[in-house]
Amino acid sequence: MSARVIDGKAVAARLREEYKTRIAKLQALHRVTPGLAVILVGEDPASQVYVRNKIRDCGEVGIHSSLIKLPASTSQAELLARIDALNADAAVHGILIQLPLPKHVEIRKVLERISVDKDVDGFHLYNVGGLVTGHQVFPPCTPYGVQKLLEHEGIELDGRNVVVVGASNIVGKPTAMMLMQKDATVSICHHKTRDLAQYTLLADILVVAAGVPGLIIPQMVRTGAVVIDVGINRLPDGRIVGDVDFEGVRKKASFISPVPGGVGPMTRAMLLHNTLVSAERLSRAQESPGKLHVVETR
Ligand code: NAP
Repeated sequence: MSARVIDGKAVAARLREEYKTRIAKLQALHRVTPGLAVILVGEDPASQVYVRNKIRDCGEVGIHSSLIKLPASTSQAELLARIDALNADAAVHGILIQLPLPKHVEIRKVLERISVDKDVDGFHLYNVGGLVTGHQVFPPCTPYGVQKLLEHEGIELDGRNVVVVGASNIVGKPTAMMLMQKDATVSICHHKTRDLAQYTLLADILVVAAGVPGLIIPQMVRTGAVVIDVGINRLPDGRIVGDVDFEGVRKKASFISPVPGGVGPMTRAMLLHNTLVSAERLSRAQESPGKLHVVETR
């Protein structure tokens, strides 16, 4: 067996075309251009690259973006004041705080300050909690990208065994919650899981987000399983790889997502999606004040 390689780059490109059309319609009907504000604190080189890509993606689809670059010494109070100003700015529909933040800043305090209606990264506790009931306003971008990728490939979740390796708050746990909302039976593994293979071998759909290159080898994968690799690891020789032994596992799986070119581009596309949905939602609310229409993601 040789797995179908899921082309996340192509799926994301197709989605961006859809968003362009929707953005043009929003501009024509409501004279609204979706706006994303990104706050970057400090000089973390990886964060700078991520932010640059996000800003470029916005430009490509017609989202107005603004980058607020602050020194690493920025106080928490100053950061919160910046967020308050963006919450009040009608031209801003999405606010993204690039993580990590400097150690002297309490991440939770900062993320909770973002208006739920502009929380396009989906990290506000309201949105995190909403994942449990399926009523979040904005789904977090990477888990949503995984869900959309599976949907695009026509992979059924209803009643299937999903195993998520990795239990972080931003990837593993929300991915598990979202796929459970789609009626999958989900197991979550983490670094203290005993005998990881015992779980991964149960998976019809295996989602790996551990940040450990080569963690998943063919012997840990059931023949015909769908394997989604979220991991991004830079090897000493500079190569970027996922958490899955791609060449080995592709001989056993039915579908496999590559790294790079799998989940990564979908994560970026979902940020555009959430910003567009936010602009659509806020412009509808302006027309019928007092009514914010909750976005359903099912
Ligand atoms: P993280 O916060 O470090 O979490 C990693 C999770 O994996 C933790 O739950 C950890 O367990 C678990 N884990 C670590 N080693 C393990 C092992 N040997 N066996 C089983 N579980 C293990 O990382 P993250 O932010 O979730 O990111 C995970 C990976 O995805 C990273 O490579 C990151 O770069 C990548 N990522 C990709 C995208 C994308 O768009 N493609 C977006 C975000 C992140 P404990 O909880 O027990 O420590």
